[in-house]
Amino acid sequence: MYIVQIASECAPVIKAGGLGDVVYGLSRELEIRGNCVELILPKYDCMRYDHIWGLHDAYLNLSVPWYGAAIHCSVYCGWVHGRVCFFIEPHSQDNFFNRGCYYGCDDDNMRFAFFSKAALEFLLQSNKRPDVIHCHDWQTGLVPVMLNEIYKYHGMEYQRVCYTIHNFKHQGIGGAQTLWATGLNQEAYYFQYDKLRDNFNPFALNFMKGGIVYSNAVTTVSPNHAWEARTTDVGSGLGHTLHLYQDKFSGVLNGIDYDFWNPDIDRYIPQNYTYDEFEQKSYNKKALQERLLLRPADKPIIAYIGRLDNQKGVHLVHHAIYHALNKEAQFVLLGSATEPGINAHFQHEKQFLNSNPDVHLELGFNEELSHLIYAGADMIIVPSNYEPCGLTQIIGLKYGTVPIVRGVGGLVNTVFDRDFDQNVPPEKRNGYVFYQTDYNALESAMNRAIDLWYQHPEEFRNLAIQGMKYDYSWNLPGAEYLKIYDWIKHKW
Ligand code: ADP
Repeated sequence: MYIVQIASECAPVIKAGGLGDVVYGLSRELEIRGNCVELILPKYDCMRYDHIWGLHDAYLNLSVPWYGAAIHCSVYCGWVHGRVCFFIEPHSQDNFFNRGCYYGCDDDNMRFAFFSKAALEFLLQSNKRPDVIHCHDWQTGLVPVMLNEIYKYHGMEYQRVCYTIHNFKHQGIGGAQTLWATGLNQEAYYFQYDKLRDNFNPFALNFMKGGIVYSNAVTTVSPNHAWEARTTDVGSGLGHTLHLYQDKFSGVLNGIDYDFWNPDIDRYIPQNYTYDEFEQKSYNKKALQERLLLRPADKPIIAYIGRLDNQKGVHLVHHAIYHALNKEAQFVLLGSATEPGINAHFQHEKQFLNSNPDVHLELGFNEELSHLIYAGADMIIVPSNYEPCGLTQIIGLKYGTVPIVRGVGGLVNTVFDRDFDQNVPPEKRNGYVFYQTDYNALESAMNRAIDLWYQHPEEFRNLAIQGMKYDYSWNLPGAEYLKIYDWIKHKW
């Protein structure tokens, strides 16, 4: 099958969070299974060019209709760890992708409406006719809309779209200008509730809703989150739309790329290990303590890696630091905040705890350090308010770092409580789960994990090894996506 992924991220060249990991890992798995996969991405000024091999111009005269005129673009091609990627660079005063950041600009809707339009124009003008276009999140929600309303009539009538939602919080809600810019023009038509009109703001359009309405298949990143999004407020106002389209909506659990996230071959960690030689993990713990200037004490290290954002339960992350210290554990945090208030809060905490030899807060994004933390920590905490899939607990499991998670979204599909999960046999359980958002719930799960580490180290080790034995690679999800592609190809 010929598959084109259109996305705003692809790890490690463009990565703000899990979306980048998924776009890369899924593409790789699809290729291993014998499919032809290409990716279309924006050419940001701030992406990691050192991860692109052989970047060259592929299509220099792409003219993208925009507001009745056109923007001239160049398309570059290069390999990102083996994946063929096309990067779109517009030449206009808008400077859409030269902002020193991926997201967070006032005109984000316009930037990604342009990217979606340019990606389709590139396919059209370069005569690429994939069987399936797989697009991701709100940034590319307009792709299926434009495909069906415009490009279908210009020779792209056989292309089918799978649309994956990684996070319902950001939906691309905004005014009608994007319609006029992209050539969708008929405002009254698209402002209907069964098209793009936002379910709650009658004056706004919603890109993600458009993606759901117009795609042939819609997925989110875990079965439990698919259910939550349809039936609870986690769908952020799109529950009703998902309910209407439930026949084409499903949850496919994300995998992780075991060529990249694998303690046996990880080149960012000083000591490789497998579950057969679990003791070797302790060298990484020592290295982590040395690197972060923690005292070399025989205490469990609890880690948090992730965005510092309300979604992630920052009040519980904050509490976990102090509770770990009270319980004779060490704590390592690697995270970045985009909200100034949250950033200031953790900057303050960092200063306050600066001289404490049992804690280290690293504020920023650091891929290399994240590997050492996964390998060196004993436990990883994920106390999210909601979590579509969550990758940090899956990576933690692979590195024998026991997850302590809140039972929401994909965390429910991946972590099974050592003491209480009756649906999973004891030899398959792999972590600790709590459900409420209060401190007591968090503390009780942390206490169970820390107590096991101190009082029954052999059992703690077994629990970590049981987690390492899980297969959360792209193997199964890759097969599931192929089934979906096959279904949309033959059904429509
Ligand atoms: P989300 O997509 O909501 O940000 P996920 O758990 O799905 O969260 O994916 C997070 C990914 O980003 C993981 O690969 C994690 O290791 C990585 N990550 C998050 N924050 C950082 C950071 N500050 N430095 C390095 N890697 C990070």
